[in-house]
Amino acid sequence: MPRTHATLPRLYVDADLAAGGQLTLGKEQSLYLAAVLRKSVGDAVVLFNGRDGAWRCVLTADSKKSVQLDLVEQIARQTPASDLWYGFAPLKSERLDYVIQKAVEMGVGTIQPVITQRTQVSRLKHERLVANAIEAAEQCEVLSVPVVAAEITLEKLLDGWPAERVLIVADEAAASASPVETLAALKRRPIGLLVGPEGGFSEIERVKMLALPFVVPISLGPRILRADTAAVAGLAVIQAIIGDWR
Ligand code: SAM
Repeated sequence: MPRTHATLPRLYVDADLAAGGQLTLGKEQSLYLAAVLRKSVGDAVVLFNGRDGAWRCVLTADSKKSVQLDLVEQIARQTPASDLWYGFAPLKSERLDYVIQKAVEMGVGTIQPVITQRTQVSRLKHERLVANAIEAAEQCEVLSVPVVAAEITLEKLLDGWPAERVLIVADEAAASASPVETLAALKRRPIGLLVGPEGGFSEIERVKMLALPFVVPISLGPRILRADTAAVAGLAVIQAIIGDWR
């Protein structure tokens, strides 16, 4: 995929983006551009908002408190947000940041923290998760920031699960068979991936999930992966076989 304007900084904004538009950035993004990246009048940056594609913009004022920009040209048309759902049992702080970033980089559209019986973390700072998702989206050149949902218990998740969507469960107790065929059979179906906590799913949780018609367990190999490793491995396998890797 040609990476046009790859050297330009990318920022996510809420504002509408259209030809001839002008924008004044907030304090945080202005400080980042003007002070951290030392951008000044005439320099270019790329903005995206999840609706209007990506736009090359030029700084017209470079004050550290309020950078002003003119929108010059659309460099990427908006693509539909990903439909891939990813559920995970929250981990402790920096590994939680890691999982959010990797989920964004792996093309997830919805990020859902799921509280299971052995989840170590129950209270989450939602705004921190969202900030991490935005930062990862800016870095990996996606055009939409995934939805970061509020945490939900596994029980509530399963009770309200939409029957048409397949829930792929990374099951470390599953027979260590390649998931290729299992996943290939799910092509063009709406799917989600669920990864358990460091202590794994409890036996009661596993038995309940495996009895549900929309659950498809997969093994991620003969070794026990850490939960954040399983996130990347599971999403990579899914994207490679039935996802958006062309
Ligand atoms: N219960 C084990 C333990 O406590 O070490 C494993 C838990 S593992 C660290 C965390 C999660 O990663 C599991 O619940 C599962 O979702 C996923 N996982 C780890 N290794 C896996 C494998 N080989 N196959 C499928 N899923 C795996």
